[in-house]
Amino acid sequence: MDFGLSGRWALVCAASKGLGLGCAQALAGEGVNLVITARGEADLLAAAAALRAQAPGVEVRAVAGDITTPEGRAAALAACPQVDILVNNAGGPPPGDFRDWDRAQWIAALDANMLTPIALIKATVDGMAERGFGRIVNITSGAVKAPIDVLGLSNGARSGLTGFVAGLARQARLASANVTLNNLLPGAFDTDRLRKTLAAGAANSGASVDEVAARRRAAIPARRFGTAAEFGAICAMLCSEQAGYLTGQNLLLDGGAYPGTF
Ligand code: NAD
Repeated sequence: MDFGLSGRWALVCAASKGLGLGCAQALAGEGVNLVITARGEADLLAAAAALRAQAPGVEVRAVAGDITTPEGRAAALAACPQVDILVNNAGGPPPGDFRDWDRAQWIAALDANMLTPIALIKATVDGMAERGFGRIVNITSGAVKAPIDVLGLSNGARSGLTGFVAGLARQARLASANVTLNNLLPGAFDTDRLRKTLAAGAANSGASVDEVAARRRAAIPARRFGTAAEFGAICAMLCSEQAGYLTGQNLLLDGGAYPGTF
């Protein structure tokens, strides 16, 4: 199926690695021009070069910076001639016990995983509506649907974003102008972040990383971790011309791990 995206511009945040890069690769495959961001310049430039090699007809602009800062967001937005597609993403907050977190740690989590996506939505959504096309995809977490005890900062901040997006997506001035907002909720995907979590689990339990990974896979009906490529493909589908009637939804990609009917 032709997703009808050729020549559009996307801003894909936190895209030098992992799920953000998977989204950028899938969109490039659909002929979408890209602005990609990440904090580490070397990895970002390498990702941009690989994207240009993958999709020679596509323009790829790399903007190094922290997307959770006003300067990082301004630089990313300035590099994008117009934002037709916005993929919101940033690193997740650290695990821990809420008894140890002070206000500064909460504000950092809210900044990264709630207020940054809201600021980027604010900067782009009305322009999308004026042009009659817009797709916003927020990478959140399966923890929004099934909270993970030690990820309280993530559970809280991402749930705040989810509630906000649920309301905004239903504004008629956006939905009737072919602007959609949806959230993609990753379960366990084989990325650097997951590998770090598995290594921490091994260090805490005394088991090997392979044992911890095997136990984690065994708890997933698909018996494997997801790949960034399959995550990106679903992101591109949500961004397609055909997906204009799909808005305000939370799509869980977890190989069947969540046990509920809804
Ligand atoms: P990753 O560590 O593999 O990649 C993160 C990317 O984000 C890198 O390119 C990094 O440079 C960039 N980045 C991080 N913070 C940034 C910032 N402030 N500004 C700009 N760029 C930044 O992580 P991932 O696995 O791709 O995870 C992406 C998001 O999905 C995270 O928020 C993570 O918590 C969430 N998530 C991941 C999983 C999983 O299994 N991988 C599961 C649930 C939720």
